[in-house]
Amino acid sequence: MKIKDMYNKEIPLISFEIFPPRKETNIESIYNTIDILSSLEPDFISVTYGAGGSNDNKTMEIASIIKNKYNIEALAHLTCITSTKNDIENTLNNLKENNINNILALRGDFPSESYKQNKLEYKYASDLINHIKTKQSFSIGAACYPEGHIECKSIRENLLHLKQKVSMGAEFLITQLFFDNEYFYDFNEKIKEFNINIPISIGIMPVTNKNQLLKMISLCGANLPDKFIRILTKYEYNPEALKEAGIAYATEQIIDLLSYGADGIHIYTMNKPEIAKKILSNISYIRKTNKIS
Ligand code: FAD
Repeated sequence: MKIKDMYNKEIPLISFEIFPPRKETNIESIYNTIDILSSLEPDFISVTYGAGGSNDNKTMEIASIIKNKYNIEALAHLTCITSTKNDIENTLNNLKENNINNILALRGDFPSESYKQNKLEYKYASDLINHIKTKQSFSIGAACYPEGHIECKSIRENLLHLKQKVSMGAEFLITQLFFDNEYFYDFNEKIKEFNINIPISIGIMPVTNKNQLLKMISLCGANLPDKFIRILTKYEYNPEALKEAGIAYATEQIIDLLSYGADGIHIYTMNKPEIAKKILSNISYIRKTNKIS
């Protein structure tokens, strides 16, 4: 099934993101992760793509297991910045052969500053979307940034580029993580001015590890609200307490977003299924409540 068609449901979608394990020897651990996540009955599970296509085959392999063994829709992430048209063509053919109908089309990060001088076959995610669209086989998602993309000078410019992705064929969006829902509410108002009306799954990251968080923040530039910094500071040396607080914070964010009328919640699981499980048990009744009441 195509993910764009799932949003017609009146119940908000719940989905998860996982990433392929770095070492070949850890591949078994991902099966355990999928096993637990599948029992939570998500609408789809997305699988990240290594920067520069470094784990192309693993993304495909894992997405294929989700779709063909667990019968859950898989969303394969695909970046293009280091790819040739030929690479992308091969990947699209492989995805199709593996019965995967959904792609999150991304530019990806530049491997180095100097890489920007290279002759690139794809400059932006919109170029990739344009290519995938010609295949007519896939439902295409794209990334969006409620706090603005880290390279972009203004939110307005960012929204013009987002509009371009939608015009090229993006059918649904997944947001970058954020810790203050007000950014999303502002963003959701602004996109209306740009006539962007496609469904949005909101990316939420439960924070359970301070170093992991700081690494993420350095990559995406998300702002940390004071109350969140207090939690991190207070519990950083007590892993169990930080985990508990991270789950509670994410749960609170999600309840607020669902009561606002979110189309979907996409949990960045960091391959820790027990955390996603706890969050879903915190919202078991809320999850099944209609968007329109
Ligand atoms: P784009 O939409 O192309 O935007 C990149 C920048 O270029 C933005 O600043 C934009 O404003 C600007 N821009 C766009 N079009 C134009 C134009 N025509 N002219 C001038 N400027 C323009 N990375 C991975 O490596 N693997 C993953 O699996 C992965 N998954 C992700 C999932 C989500 C939900 C999100 C939010 C991000 C993910 N990323 C992933 C990170 C992503 O690759 C980076 O954020 C990357 O820097 C931008 O990708 P994009 O697709 O948003 O790029």
